[in-house]
Amino acid sequence: MTHRAGRHFLQIPGPSPVPERVLRAISAQVIDHRGPDFAEVGRTALMGMRSIFKTGQDVVIYPASGTGAWEAALVNALSRGDRVLMYETGHFATLWKKMAEKLGLRPEFIEGDWRGGADPDAIETRLRADRAHEIKAVCVVHNETSTGSVSPIAQVRAAIDAAGHPALLMVDTISGLASIDFRFDEWGVDVAVSGSQKGLMLPPGLSFNAVSAKAMAASEQGGMPRSYWDWREMKASNASGYFPYTPATNLLFGLNEAIAMLHDEGLENVFARHARHGAATRAAVRHWGLEVLCRRQGQESGVLTAVLMPEGHSADAFRKTALRHYDISLGNGLSKVADKVFRIGHLGDFNDLTLAGTLTGVELGLRKAGVPHRDGGLDAALKVLDDMPAPGIAAE
Ligand SMILES: *Cc1c(COP(=O)(O)O)cnc(C)c1O
Repeated sequence: MTHRAGRHFLQIPGPSPVPERVLRAISAQVIDHRGPDFAEVGRTALMGMRSIFKTGQDVVIYPASGTGAWEAALVNALSRGDRVLMYETGHFATLWKKMAEKLGLRPEFIEGDWRGGADPDAIETRLRADRAHEIKAVCVVHNETSTGSVSPIAQVRAAIDAAGHPALLMVDTISGLASIDFRFDEWGVDVAVSGSQKGLMLPPGLSFNAVSAKAMAASEQGGMPRSYWDWREMKASNASGYFPYTPATNLLFGLNEAIAMLHDEGLENVFARHARHGAATRAAVRHWGLEVLCRRQGQESGVLTAVLMPEGHSADAFRKTALRHYDISLGNGLSKVADKVFRIGHLGDFNDLTLAGTLTGVELGLRKAGVPHRDGGLDAALKVLDDMPAPGIAAE
């Protein structure tokens, strides 16, 4: 069977489904990226991303996946041999640390149990012990996509300040941005990293850095050998709305449309919508008698929910069954939790009925795969939806 009727449920935590409006915006003839019409596209995208990061400082856009923007953050703001303090929230934090090692940095990991966000107290304690200020940056993942936990970024900033430490604060908000609150300027973030295919509702292929004046100064005075990722060349071209090399023109058309949609809905409504769908999903999981991987209250993600399988059951076999019978893609467990968890994405272009379809698909999949559970998770989720005000819908 090659054609399956109805829509596929792409409920992995990125790439997330792309709304029709964005698909149409992308589906346009390509234009001259050095011609007169492009500057407006480039400027709109750069200014628009500032509004999404909530910053008045520089934003850089790369034709690259999120991993590219991770590398850009490290090679621009840090120098070879620098110590960096990183926090093991999960798989993505671990990959970022491995990258830092490959680039010749000296990362130090605060170990975590993959069941919550970064602990600001542990960061403060480590920074206080670093009297010589050898640590040049603190790197934290905002929304850890492998576990469904959110790190308290404002508190991490407060911890750095309380320790009186000058380290830069670098934050991976690849899957957090445009789904859960992020405030670059207010929270004193120095470098933020993001990508197009999660909360921004675009296909993969764009990634971003937001850069504070302090991080920009660090890159001008130091940094590593770099060319493609160089903030300085980007900044020089971006001033007039252009790029130093060919940008992903059509993805920028889509980005401008996605940003307009996010502001139409209202960023605060977008965040509340995600929080509400996260709460409803967790209610379903608990009703099924399964365990949510994140166990730190208040740090559960509105982007995705990672669910622990009952002992002796394979998460991957369950996901395969759900895909085969119900045409729903769920996220897999990564590295340490491979085959032990599955992840339900509830981000981006997503509403109450998408949630209902998604949870129904999961429950039917559990049944079909013979995974022990209590039926009726959807009802438990619907009760939560009913009890929480739907953001953006005025009372009658
Ligand atoms: C998706 C993701 C990445 C990796 O981004 P790519 O676009 O796959 O390179 C890194 N960190 C987090 C938190 C992510 O969600």
